[in-house]
Amino acid sequence: MKKVILGILMLLCGWTSVSAAEKSFSSPDGQLTVWVDDVNGAPAYRVMLGETEFIERSPLGVKTNIGDFTQNLTLTGCEIKKVQEQYQLSTIKQSTVNYEATEAVCSFEQQGRKVIDVVFRVSNRDVAYSYTIYPKGGTLVCVVDSEASGFQLPSGTTTFLCPQSRPMGGFARTAPSYETSYSLDDQMGKNGWGEGYSFPCLFRVGEKGWVLISETGVDGNYVASRLLNVKDGLYRIGFPQQGECNGWGSTSASVALPCQTPWRTITIGTTLANIVETTVPFDLVSQKYKASQEYIHGKGSWSWIIGMDASCNFDEQKRYIDFSAAMGYQSVLIDALWDVQIGREKIAELAAYGKSKGVGLYLWYNSNGSWNDAPQSPKGKMDKSHARREEMAWMKSIGIRGIKVDFFGGDKQNMMQLYEDILSDANDYGILVIFHGCTLPRGWERMYPNYAASEAVLASENLHFGQGACDAEAFNATIHAFVRNTVGAMDFGGSTLNKFYNANNSRGSRRVTSDVYALATAVLFQSPVQHFALAPNNLTDAPAWAIDFMKEVPTKWDEVKYIDGYPGKYVIMARRSGDKWYVVGVNAEKTPLKTKIELPMFEKGTELQVYSDDAELNGSLTTVKQKKQMAITIPTNGGVVIVNK
Ligand code: CA
Repeated sequence: MKKVILGILMLLCGWTSVSAAEKSFSSPDGQLTVWVDDVNGAPAYRVMLGETEFIERSPLGVKTNIGDFTQNLTLTGCEIKKVQEQYQLSTIKQSTVNYEATEAVCSFEQQGRKVIDVVFRVSNRDVAYSYTIYPKGGTLVCVVDSEASGFQLPSGTTTFLCPQSRPMGGFARTAPSYETSYSLDDQMGKNGWGEGYSFPCLFRVGEKGWVLISETGVDGNYVASRLLNVKDGLYRIGFPQQGECNGWGSTSASVALPCQTPWRTITIGTTLANIVETTVPFDLVSQKYKASQEYIHGKGSWSWIIGMDASCNFDEQKRYIDFSAAMGYQSVLIDALWDVQIGREKIAELAAYGKSKGVGLYLWYNSNGSWNDAPQSPKGKMDKSHARREEMAWMKSIGIRGIKVDFFGGDKQNMMQLYEDILSDANDYGILVIFHGCTLPRGWERMYPNYAASEAVLASENLHFGQGACDAEAFNATIHAFVRNTVGAMDFGGSTLNKFYNANNSRGSRRVTSDVYALATAVLFQSPVQHFALAPNNLTDAPAWAIDFMKEVPTKWDEVKYIDGYPGKYVIMARRSGDKWYVVGVNAEKTPLKTKIELPMFEKGTELQVYSDDAELNGSLTTVKQKKQMAITIPTNGGVVIVNK
């Protein structure tokens, strides 16, 4: 407690130094406290929320080719200041963010020379740190081979993780692409399939609370990382695998000095509220270039998810443009093989037709390159600057809205540079970018103004591919709100209203979730651009209230509130757009979820529209007057949606 008070006092005084052997500093509300030390020359930190240690003493430091900065270091002091910033970002979970944090720059010397700072940011929800690496005399570049950056979780902690794939595996050797299944409430001490885990990584520290570990601010200046288990409860940052990108490129990061490395982020809460509501991926990064224009986000349709490759033909795409127009949607996404099955001249014709109906087109591209066997075309248009810019100039000339680039080669620095180059070139031509078969976005909504969303999840395509994914659909949905989707836009491509993943709506994988569930996930899954898995036949074969809702549902949000839930069981949360709150829930448990929820966001007497399911998953829409508390029942694979009129 003394140290907490000391932390607050230091804040009041502005810039200062702590002279004790162990330095500490706290969040603006004084609840989250970090201690830093250099015992035995090895830099380390630990984190407490209130009286509970959530991260036990864990290693810090980097190993580079100009020195090993994980040992023989002396902590010379921490410079502490208060950080306050307000920013607007319409494409994330919260449109206006008031960011407040304590910054502590902790400097370490080796043989009398300042070698690294560990820069900490402590907000009321999150601890983050990154390294500043200093030049060594006239040596102004270095290679970072690894980080000691560790996270020692208390014993008894359980894990909610998905494994990082081995390289050059999976479909057409496109792995890793962050498309693996979660194990929930698992014990620590495992290491996925031997290669650790994909970010973000969720942990439950018994009854005491939750920890979400991730990273942000990764661009072409560094590698993207994963989380490796060292032993028992100790995890550390892992760099990419040698085999990624068909072996091309280094697993290390090559940097110019001084450099600041990406942020390691730790979100901590006694409930899952902080995990759901955190804005830490965006708080710590800044915009890398200005938007060339105001980008149009919004909703769209997408034939491929129901009709697959065969549907990428002129007539069907025209029908989907009509469908999007009928829904009031802004776009149609034309998936792989359009170059062969439609052709460039006819694409221009479709773009003009879409424009006449207020519908913009997104075009699919293969990212490769030499890093996988994916045969889908167009190929060879996105991996080299001259081809890419020529292609984008063509797109601009016919008014293409955006691109969906698929099948990336992993997390090495060369791939991070490719993501960044595609984004910045696309901005020159006014094009929005969606990534698929890709890595996790790491603060990219704020860094790149034309970045729309990424897949990096077992997305809706798997529902088409197999019944197993359909049967597990609700189970997976209850995880995403707490893990994948909380750190960045998730292009899931869901909210299917077909009974079957087939153009005749009569055979193939069968959807086991309800129509209300489909509506709920349109709110639950956050992305500023949504290409829903709806089909033209849904205008006549789906309930009118479901179609009406899907016409109106926003894709941009002002605020998010966690209400209740548990990964893999159920989730209830709320998003606000303007003066409308959308309270949504889905249930994956074997038994109906019966609960009472508080609805303080609605004023007394407000008329609420309630979409709910009966025991047979038949949905209905009713109108009720706002009550302080509402009793709800969500059947297995069902949903609930509550919206003020
Ligand atoms: Ca995929």
